[in-house]
Amino acid sequence: MKVKDRLSLQFTFMFAVLLLMVLTGIYLFVEHNRVKDFFNKLDDRAVTVAQFYLAEDNLSKESFKTVLKKFPQSLSNETIRIYNEHFKPQFVHEGTVRWDLNTLKDVVSQKQVHLSQDNQQITGIYYADNSGNFIIMVSAIDINGYHDMHNLGLIMFFVFLASLIITYFMGSVFSRIALLPIVRITNNLKRIRASSLDLRLPVAQKKTDEIDGLSLTINQLLEHLEQSFESQKSFIANASHELRTPITTILGEAEITLMQNRDGEVYRSVLTNIIKETERLSYIINSLMELIQTNVENSDFQNIRMDELLWEIKDDLSDRAAKSRINLTFNLPNEPSKVTLPGNRQLLFIGISNIIKNALKFSDNKEVDCEIFCDAMGINILIRDKGIGIDQKDLTKIFQPFYRSANALYYPGYGIGLSLTNNIIRLHNGKIEIKSTLNKGSEFHVTFPDYS
Ligand code: ADP
Repeated sequence: MKVKDRLSLQFTFMFAVLLLMVLTGIYLFVEHNRVKDFFNKLDDRAVTVAQFYLAEDNLSKESFKTVLKKFPQSLSNETIRIYNEHFKPQFVHEGTVRWDLNTLKDVVSQKQVHLSQDNQQITGIYYADNSGNFIIMVSAIDINGYHDMHNLGLIMFFVFLASLIITYFMGSVFSRIALLPIVRITNNLKRIRASSLDLRLPVAQKKTDEIDGLSLTINQLLEHLEQSFESQKSFIANASHELRTPITTILGEAEITLMQNRDGEVYRSVLTNIIKETERLSYIINSLMELIQTNVENSDFQNIRMDELLWEIKDDLSDRAAKSRINLTFNLPNEPSKVTLPGNRQLLFIGISNIIKNALKFSDNKEVDCEIFCDAMGINILIRDKGIGIDQKDLTKIFQPFYRSANALYYPGYGIGLSLTNNIIRLHNGKIEIKSTLNKGSEFHVTFPDYS
């Protein structure tokens, strides 16, 4: 069922319940008044009858006429019975209507009784007269009242039906108007395909309602999608270029060498070249495999002390000179838990050591400061070098696979390390910020949340 129809139905249902309550209330109120009015009429009738029958001897002709004028007509299906205080019928024959003794006794004790039986209303009064005490029972059917109530019920039923139909149609018009912006968004979204991810939803300049919020969020999502599509495209282009270059070199060298007989020295140098290119190929493939691994959710986490990991990274550097150029500084609290985080040791090792190795590489053997400290943000690692620096426009791009700044092209490398590091740090809920000045040096600031 469409949202529009569901909204109209819900709206109609709510209105139906409300209307039903109001109409029922009105009906019951009118019915209550009808019953009350008719009992009043019956009471008056009983008094008139009492005066007519019982006071004939002491009622003046004038007042008797007034009484008759006041109540000239009897009520429909009216029966009147008079009993003396010994419950014997008086003046009239009892006929078929005989009130049971208990009812008559109730009249005596309560002086006035109102009863309803089937559709008959009955009133009984205890009347004191100079000739004795009498019980007057008057019963009648309020045919006019019933007729009015029946008509009222019918009118209410049709009003109810008509209101429901009108409400349903009004509800569908309103829900269509309310949902119009969403339909518009859907139609606009249908135009956007993978090939046209640059398209955006129109957003009103001033208005900032929920629908504009939705459009803005969808536009942000499209922005992310477009960026990730672009980076995937450039990743594939770069990866295939990087993989094709050594393969072309290997093939070319082998084919040219095989064209004619060469002496042993030539074969040796060609094979050495082939080994070098194959190593390059294998390095790129391994890095790509690691990059893929970091994109997979990793649940194999253990507690890792980051200060120990930094020592291990320093120790791992096989170049003794490089080892001595790393200045480790620890500003840590006493609780080891503050410097511990759940993570994958192997990946964190690769991630942090990539930054340190870059710092060493791009600073041409100058000293690298590596500091670890804890603050409100969590665990912080600062790696500072006095190297070639990074151009401001390259600061975000260097995290893309295979991207290398122009000033880095004279140094060995393939441009995969930092994107791998970025993935690893994000996998551990951390973030990485860079401050850098060209030809002065760079500072890489890695922060991991406080897990203690
Ligand atoms: P690679 O080091 O193999 O070139 P990375 O992915 O590790 O690849 O780094 C990407 C790019 O980021 C580098 O090519 C370089 O331009 C820049 N870069 C990274 N670290 C530094 C640094 N410490 N100083 C200057 N440039 C850096």
